[in-house]
Amino acid sequence: MSAQPVLAQSTSAPPTEDLNPFTIAVQQYEHAARYLPELDPDMVAYMRRPGRFIAVEFPVQMQDGTVKLFIGYRCVHSRSRGPGKGGIRYHPDVTADEVKALANWMTWKCAVVDIPFGGAKGGVVCDPKKLTKDDLRKITRRYIAELGDDIGPNTDIPAPDVNTNAETMAWIYDTYHMMHPGINSLPVVTGKPVDIGGSLGRREATARGCLFVTERALARGVVPGIDSLKGASVAVQGFGNAGAIAAELYEEAGAVIVAASDSRGAIHSREGFSAKAAVEHKRKTGSVVGLPGTATIAGEAVLSVPCDILIPAALENSIRADNAGSVKARLIAEAANGPTTPAADRILNQRGIAVLPDILANAGGVTVSYFEWVQNIENEQWDEEAVNQKLWTKMTRSTDAVIDTHARLNGSLAKLDAERKKRGRPGEPLQPADMRTAAYVLAIQRVANVTAERGIWP
Ligand code: NAD
Repeated sequence: MSAQPVLAQSTSAPPTEDLNPFTIAVQQYEHAARYLPELDPDMVAYMRRPGRFIAVEFPVQMQDGTVKLFIGYRCVHSRSRGPGKGGIRYHPDVTADEVKALANWMTWKCAVVDIPFGGAKGGVVCDPKKLTKDDLRKITRRYIAELGDDIGPNTDIPAPDVNTNAETMAWIYDTYHMMHPGINSLPVVTGKPVDIGGSLGRREATARGCLFVTERALARGVVPGIDSLKGASVAVQGFGNAGAIAAELYEEAGAVIVAASDSRGAIHSREGFSAKAAVEHKRKTGSVVGLPGTATIAGEAVLSVPCDILIPAALENSIRADNAGSVKARLIAEAANGPTTPAADRILNQRGIAVLPDILANAGGVTVSYFEWVQNIENEQWDEEAVNQKLWTKMTRSTDAVIDTHARLNGSLAKLDAERKKRGRPGEPLQPADMRTAAYVLAIQRVANVTAERGIWP
């Protein structure tokens, strides 16, 4: 809600970083745009900010009889490449700037995996842990009714995010369908239950996409000495849709899960533990903490356990200037959106720790959302194997494109600097790019091409 900078809180160091997610998203974008000296500054300015931002306030009669007011947001950052696409988050810390940042990241993510969507995101400020299912259903219905025709199958298409799931998507579909009887409204939202037009494989898609990206990056030599997941040790921060399923899939692919965390704490075992057992333990007790055979450690300590691969799969700003120095992993695969700050990126890059950026590593979710949208429009249901095969092709191709862009940029820094100078672009000489910058460069170029081809209306 506030555009005020949120400063890093650390007991060991004074606040050093602005942790406002929108500020960070803009910093990442502007940093990458410097590697595209031929891009018109007016185009750079146009693609920086969201195209539309909606805030709604509405009352809900709660199950206990009280009436409470809620604030919801929906942001469309860009529709240059297609309808806005992005999840809906329910969390007490949702802010306008967080939603804008998440919408921004969706634009670049959809472009990296080359699907015909723009970027959008939504959120409602609420604490699902303190609400009943009936409360959540009413909040969802009223929020969607307030958005009205500002969402739609060809304009802006929601999906799940933190604390929302297939059931929430079913309520969204039903609400929209009640408001638009007699037409096929299934493509208005993705991540639905499979028996209401959801795609097979969508629930696992974010984690599976992250797995495919990691496997391809390892096979391409991104981490010298580790060319596959066989025997690789993995730590996972966040044990929800993205994190818990990633733990299971990485384990199935031969990795050893050595640490995991959720909002209540973290567990560690040098020898590893069964991801399936951790999922079952969380289902029974509400947390991974207490899984037999593991030691309980502080929540943040999951980021600094010795391991080959770290998967942040919780919220933004987990890896910051004040803790990036203690990361021991060789590779970070960002299942979460925005888990690493720009200052942390610089530290990790200097330390030789590769980062598979969110706009690539967690794009499997939106990719299968796109498959769901296509199936809904065609009134079809694809086999799970077909979905996973298509996902593999998309993620592998996109990983190759990012790795190739990374190599191309770093092989032509002097040429890019000369071009920047020739065009009078301000700023210091370019530093070697990391993979986030490469992914942004790929995405920005794709969005800019379409924007230029379409021209400005009218
Ligand atoms: P979720 O609600 O299913 O799970 C979130 C998990 O994070 C929970 O286990 C929660 O306990 C844990 N968590 C919260 N705060 C934590 C903290 N401080 N430390 C450790 N764990 C903490 O949400 P999700 O859908 O898995 O989303 C997680 C991340 O993945 C978000 O950044 C989201 O934007 C991103 N993402 C999700 C999808 C998707 O399809 N669900 C797609 C792309 C990206």
